[in-house]
Amino acid sequence: MGETALVVDGVTVQFSGVTALDDVSFEVRPGHIHAVIGPNGAGKSTLFNVLSAVYRPVSGSVRFHGTELTRLRPHRLAALGVARTFQNIALLPGASVTENLLLGRHDLLRPSGLRRNTRAPAAAHRERVREIARFIGLGDLHDVPAGELSYGDQKRVEIARALCMEPRLLLLDEPAAGMNAHETAAMARLIRDIRDSLDIPILLVEHDMGLVMGIADRVTVLDFGKRIADGTPREVQRDPEVLRAYLGSGDDTAAHPSPAGPPGPHHPAPSPEN
Ligand code: ADP
Ligand code: MG
Repeated sequence: MGETALVVDGVTVQFSGVTALDDVSFEVRPGHIHAVIGPNGAGKSTLFNVLSAVYRPVSGSVRFHGTELTRLRPHRLAALGVARTFQNIALLPGASVTENLLLGRHDLLRPSGLRRNTRAPAAAHRERVREIARFIGLGDLHDVPAGELSYGDQKRVEIARALCMEPRLLLLDEPAAGMNAHETAAMARLIRDIRDSLDIPILLVEHDMGLVMGIADRVTVLDFGKRIADGTPREVQRDPEVLRAYLGSGDDTAAHPSPAGPPGPHHPAPSPEN
């Protein structure tokens, strides 16, 4: 069956009386796109924050190729090869695309970084960054200030910056949030290209059912902090518990699980997530 890249085992997170995650377990296989979906309040952001060592669970463990992540400081994750994006755009607007991407290599540039083998002259880093930008479809925009890019391109820069860490696991937090149908479809192609070309597992927390069902190899569904389903997109889409959770939630996204995903607002107000 092959090894497992990430093992989430019995993770429970509580916030003063609220159980945001209740004994959640699942496994991410190498080379898979693994999506975590669920209605609002299901625990998706909490899970993402556990995986990026921002929150520490009261019980359970998260192992990445055998290394326990839940007791690490967030910055140590980068050294292990775990890269994340943020739901709200967090770029330096006045800095060029290339400069923003070079920030993604910060950990590789530090001599004290764990992954010394990736130390290289500045010119080599710059070349690698431009190569990643071309791969992501930003090849014409190297010198453009990030703040002048379209919303969709800014989201691409965020993903490119994560790839500049040369990750062994990519965590994407709602990459299609605020995108229209066209941008969402382009994002879906990009995520699939990353999996196919770089062969790294991708864990995707996503609200847009359409995006997930079109690209995920495996889907874990959360509701009220509990795992209610885990399987292929086909399997979870037919699961009565999943249908009940989504239909009962008054959740707009769930009401339109079309392959292209629902058209969304273009530039959403920043949400308080993360
Ligand atoms: P989702 O991202 O799926 O919408 P969240 O992980 O944000 O869900 O929230 C899961 C539950 O935990 C909700 O009931 C939410 O109100 C609660 N919660 C999340 N973060 C906090 C926090 N920092 N303090 C208190 N309660 C929280
Ligand atoms: Mg959330």
